Amino acid sequence: MRMRERPSPNHDARPGDGVADMLVLHYTGMRSAAEAIDRLCSAEAKVSAHYVIDEDGTLWRLVPEERRAWHAGVSAWSGRRDINGASIGIELVNPGHEFGYRPFPDAQMAALEALARDILRRHPVPARHVLAHSDVAPQRKTDPGELFDWARLARAGIGLWPDFAAVPPPAPSIAALQDQLAAIGYDTPRSGVEDAQTTQVITAFQRHFRPQCCDGSTDAETRQRIAAVAAAIATS
Ligand SMILES: [Zn+2]
Repeated sequence: MRMRERPSPNHDARPGDGVADMLVLHYTGMRSAAEAIDRLCSAEAKVSAHYVIDEDGTLWRLVPEERRAWHAGVSAWSGRRDINGASIGIELVNPGHEFGYRPFPDAQMAALEALARDILRRHPVPARHVLAHSDVAPQRKTDPGELFDWARLARAGIGLWPDFAAVPPPAPSIAALQDQLAAIGYDTPRSGVEDAQTTQVITAFQRHFRPQCCDGSTDAETRQRIAAVAAAIATS
């Protein structure tokens, strides 16, 4: 794997024991790779990621893995709030929903798979901690979005993709659904009603695990898939 170095000044020490046990995927959401990398290396912008992967598979390293990069912002997973402190962040070049969202090409996916496999060898990242930015910040973020192929990544041994053919019974109520979303790791309201924030969390779930339909609705298929992921995590 050929790595280009483009050091960013935007990083600091990981807190606590310094262990990185999460992998967070993003899209750049800008018109070009150069524009995105310039921003991720701009001291004024105060954002960064460990790696950037262009659509042709070109790989840049911006921040060493042992340092905390600044990619996730205000975010949460399984009750933890310092996602940057415990994660490796990878930016995939894609214009995103704002500038012409398009599929992630094979060369880019192949480079990501190779890089992620290396990262999983170096860090104790369980499958349930391979996440979208939208998973850890469902009220603010939509990246890498519904065109990202999580099933392909899981076939390569990276991340969680349950067998959706054999699903457990869906949650009987919104409260039970919120319990399952929380068990998966989402920072969800526990209101017992389908409020706007819960709809955002369900939309984030769909972008990851039911990309054919991300409208935030609690239809049978969505409830079944939430139950399936919660069950897979309970036994992982
Ligand atoms: Zn992002």
